[in-house]
Parts: sequence; structure tokens; C-alpha cells
Amino acid sequence: SMKRPYNFSAGPAAIPAEVLEQAAAEMLDWHGCGMGVMEMSHRGKEFRSICEQAQAKLRELLAVPAQFKILFMQGGGLAENAIVPLNLSRAGTVDFVVTGSWSQKSQQEARKYAAQVNVVASSEDTGFTSLPDPATWTLSRGASYLHLCSNETINGVEFQQLPDLQALGSDAPLVIDFSSHVASRPVDWSRVGLAFGGAQKNLGPAGLTLVVVREDLLGHALPACPSAFDYRTVAEHQSMYNTPPTWGIYIAGLTFEWLGRQREGPFSGIAAMEQRHIAKAQLLYDAIDNSGLYLNKVVPHCRSRMNVPFFLRDESRNDDFLAGARERGLLQLKGHKSVGGMRASIYNAMPLAGVQALVDYMREFEQKRA
Ligand code: PMP
Repeated sequence: SMKRPYNFSAGPAAIPAEVLEQAAAEMLDWHGCGMGVMEMSHRGKEFRSICEQAQAKLRELLAVPAQFKILFMQGGGLAENAIVPLNLSRAGTVDFVVTGSWSQKSQQEARKYAAQVNVVASSEDTGFTSLPDPATWTLSRGASYLHLCSNETINGVEFQQLPDLQALGSDAPLVIDFSSHVASRPVDWSRVGLAFGGAQKNLGPAGLTLVVVREDLLGHALPACPSAFDYRTVAEHQSMYNTPPTWGIYIAGLTFEWLGRQREGPFSGIAAMEQRHIAKAQLLYDAIDNSGLYLNKVVPHCRSRMNVPFFLRDESRNDDFLAGARERGLLQLKGHKSVGGMRASIYNAMPLAGVQALVDYMREFEQKRA
């Protein structure tokens, strides 16, 4: 593979070079059929095989149980903030755990559709640098679902374990926004009713939205729910009620094959990715914590393995830091505008060597300080 700079974008984000090279090789003629994937009918046998294989590979990789449907939709995470309550809020009350910018947006959007939105826990008082302990959540009786964002991309906090709502005395299905850490670690499906995520961080290009939904949650949409966003309709048509994002599904499928080939010692696939992420995150957080210049404010056990926001204690050097990084082929490290500082997003396509290159640069930059 061609040597490229290391890209730390939060999304749309780096895609494995092997995947891009294969897509380039197949761009004009997919498997000898005389057409590129972007040019095919979604109802033809070629694209149907691409879509079915992508779905089957994802089911295998993430060990998605048979009673869950895998849907390929459009609209991204923000559209799902509306589509979820349009499909699931029938009982009227929905619960939210607010742990950062994305779950905050989600609960605000749900207020348009659900009769009652209860924020049952929030870490806003800590500046979203921690996660509220599930033991302290006061769940609503008879809620339609409970929503949380399992990895907050902007604030850099991640649930290391999903809460067991049944053990907390609730029958509500758990809805997770796993946009920014999908396929970086296994999912405990016994605790999940529905998971959604945009593809543009860990799976492929923007434009594809992944929804994994338990079958008993289909068929409860509000009358105003657009047909193309009714999970039952989408499921009944194998994600082809409307034209699906064919290019996104194809690239995601190639990425799933790539994920399946990854190995770390005895681990393979998603388990291998998880081992790699643990090593990458430790390398970067240790470099931050052991320095006099860099600072990450998140409580250690809540830190995200995917998104690592950090600050320079001397903020007047921010632009210098970013310019030097760019020169060394370390791209898109500028922090989100709402937080400031820097952010390194180290998704599936970022190798350990990329994090090592960043850490080496950080040490060098700190040492040369005047
Ligand atoms: N949820 C999370 C956790 C995200 O990181 C993002 C995008 N950064 C979104 C939702 C919104 O996704 P989109 O822009 O695709 O709607």
C-alpha cells in the first residue's frame, strides 16, 4: 500500500488504504460486469449480492443475534434522533442519559415527537468529563426506551460497559448511538434494543447509516413517521424500499472484509481491533498524562478509546502545534470548536504506528519549548 499521512479526523475519517485501493481497482468495472458499483441498479443481482454479503459479514463480525435486523439507511445520526422517537415513542415517555454534545442533541430532538422526555441522568455538571453511574439513574415507569450515546465523539467519554436496564428495574429497551465507536469493540446485544450510527467514522463514507434493531421493536411507528424511515418498512424490503446508499454499502462491505482479516496475537476481527484500540489509547493517554504540556480532563475510567481531546497548557502554542503536526503528516488534529484545543480520533483505520508518530511529535514539540 502507498504511504499516506496519518489522518486523525473525527469524521468523515480515514478509510483503510487497502479498501480504497480495491475500490479504485473496481471503480470502472466491478467483477467483470462492465459497470462500476455507483452505476448499478440497486435491484440487480450484482448489487444485491454486494448488499447481502455486507450484511452477512457485519452480522458475523459484530455477532448480531438472529432476532435483530440490520438496516442500511440514510440521514446519519442526527436523522436517527428523529427517526427513533418516530418509531419507538408510542408509550409517550422516553428516557435520556445526557453525557455530552451528541446525547444532548438527541434529547432535544426527541421533544418534537415524544409526549414526555425525561433526562434521567446527566454529567453536564462535570463539564461532560465523566459518566453518571447507572446505579444512580432514576428510570421512568413504562418508558418506551432509554437513549444513551455510548461514545461521545466531541467530549471523549465512552461507556466501557452498557448498563443492564433490567437489573435497574426497567423493561425499556436500550437505544444506543454508537456512531463513533461501532466495530471497535464487541457489543453486548443482550442489553440493547436498537443501535444506530453513521458510517463515516469507523465503517466507510458518509451517507450510510447503520441501524441494528430487535424485531419486537418493528411495527410501532407513529402515523406521521415517513414510510422510508419506518423501520418495519425498511426491514421488510431488505433496506431497498427506497434506493439505499449503494456506494456506502459497498465500501462498508469492503471494510467489513478488511476488519475480518485483522489479527492481534490470538485475536481476530473485532476482538483484534479492540486489543489494538486498547494499546493505542494507552499509548496516547500515557503520553498526555506524563507530560507537563498536555492535558486531558476526562476521568480515566470514562475516557474514550476513539476520540482523545487534549489541550496545551500554553494555548498560545496551539497554532504552532497544528502547523508542525501537518508538516510531519499528522492531519486534522484541531479540536472541535465547542471544546477547543486538539482532538485525535483514532478509529479502526488508524494503526498503532500512527499514534506512535503522534506521540513522538508531541514529545519533540514539548521539549523544544522556549
Ligand atoms: N452521533 C455521534 C456520536 C456523532 O459522532 C455524530 C457525528 N459526529 C452524530 C451523531 C451526527 O452524525 P451525522 O452528522 O451523520 O448526522
